Amino acid sequence: MKKTLYLKFLLAYIIFGCFGFIVVATFSSSLTLEHLKRENAETLYREASMISKTYAAELYSSRITLESAYTQLNALGTYLSADIWIVNPSGTVVLNSGEATNVDNPKIIANFDPAVTSDSYYVTGNFFGEFEEEVLSVFTPISSNYKIKGYVIIHKPMSDIYKSSDSLLGVTYITLVLLILLSLIILFFFTEMFYFPLKKIITATEQYASGNMHYELSVESTDEMGYLAASLNYMASEIARSEDNQKKFVANVSHDFRSPLTSIKGYLEAMLDGTIPPEMHEKYLTIVLNETDRLTKLTNSLLTLNNLNTKGMVLERSDFELNRMIKETVETFEGTCNKKQILMDLILTGDVMYVNGDITKIQQVLYNLLDNAIKFSHNNSVITIETREKNNKLFVSVKDNGIGIPKDSLKLIFDRFYKTDLSRGKDKKGTGLGLSITKEIIHSHGENINVISTEGVGSEFIFTLQKAENMDLGDD
Ligand code: ADP
Repeated sequence: MKKTLYLKFLLAYIIFGCFGFIVVATFSSSLTLEHLKRENAETLYREASMISKTYAAELYSSRITLESAYTQLNALGTYLSADIWIVNPSGTVVLNSGEATNVDNPKIIANFDPAVTSDSYYVTGNFFGEFEEEVLSVFTPISSNYKIKGYVIIHKPMSDIYKSSDSLLGVTYITLVLLILLSLIILFFFTEMFYFPLKKIITATEQYASGNMHYELSVESTDEMGYLAASLNYMASEIARSEDNQKKFVANVSHDFRSPLTSIKGYLEAMLDGTIPPEMHEKYLTIVLNETDRLTKLTNSLLTLNNLNTKGMVLERSDFELNRMIKETVETFEGTCNKKQILMDLILTGDVMYVNGDITKIQQVLYNLLDNAIKFSHNNSVITIETREKNNKLFVSVKDNGIGIPKDSLKLIFDRFYKTDLSRGKDKKGTGLGLSITKEIIHSHGENINVISTEGVGSEFIFTLQKAENMDLGDD
């Protein structure tokens, strides 16, 4: 049989119950008996002391008769459910509350030894063979003039004490059974809170292991079990998403390669078979060249992304002057800006600003952002590049007044191959890889990039950079 957690818990529960009964039956029962014996002995000892000082002392000094002492002790004995004996040191029973004394032929206890109690004041047993059943016998001496005249001995049947002990134990057993029944609640909670959710989690992991990443695991609790289930669910959905992304990625790459290749093939065949006359060749060869450019750009982007994704990517970090780098990058777009009559407005912190990072890669980030800003800006508009310093960080923002990004697309624009529907008209050559490269570069620097955009109003991309530790490097 499989040793499930539930079975183990059930076994532990049964062992707990059995141990409970064993402990009560042995340990508690002997403790209770011992306690009752001592309590009875104490009560009887008090009575015996009282008798030795009163009736017994008076009897020995002949202030009362044997008959009257017998009457008194008989009543007291009945009340205590015990036999009260007055015994001489030699063992002669002077008075027995249980039966009238035969003065002429008194009972003599054979081998009577008052030291039998050793250092206690009571013994249990058959009292020198005088009783058939087990009795508890309590001793007190009767003394007068510093001499022991005799003993008051009270005998109580042990069966009475056993009876009380049994009835007390009965209560303990009932309490124990109630406790065990109550602890069934724990078993119930264990089943509800751990066992069932755990079974669901196991089923889910088996499904995930067999490749069904879309299996929905539902554990509706807010404790650690719920958290574990939610984490597993999240993990599975992420794996499923990454699998889907992988498929989409391959589909996109194939599509993006196939369309320029189809058009190149088409034009070249048409030129070869004469469909395109030689005088038109230059025009179509230029188109073919543009398409090969697109393919080169696509391949380069894919290679860059692949390199960035490789774990342990080596960044060639150094301290470099950001303001100069921004100005140089902006200058490369001069031609395009002039064509669209776009003005680049630079608001830079400080004359020089040293930051730490891989200059080539950060320049690519800025290049991608500016390229997009220009592509998606309207003619006659302004693009602002601003740097702000805060807590040893430099915030670089590229803001345009272009077409903007729809709210639903904001989360997706950093994904590979993603292009908004709005942008398709404006940018036919885009690969949808620029921003994912940008994000990878910034993240590999341990920095962040964010976008704020309103459709039809414009977009602002902000990324952070680490300021150089030593700012007094001077202009090199
Ligand atoms: P691409 O190389 O096609 O520009 P990107 O990854 O750089 O790819 O951008 C992805 C998409 O995000 C773009 O196709 C466009 O839809 C949107 N986008 C990026 N920057 C801007 C911007 N400044 N204004 C409006 N849309 C933008």
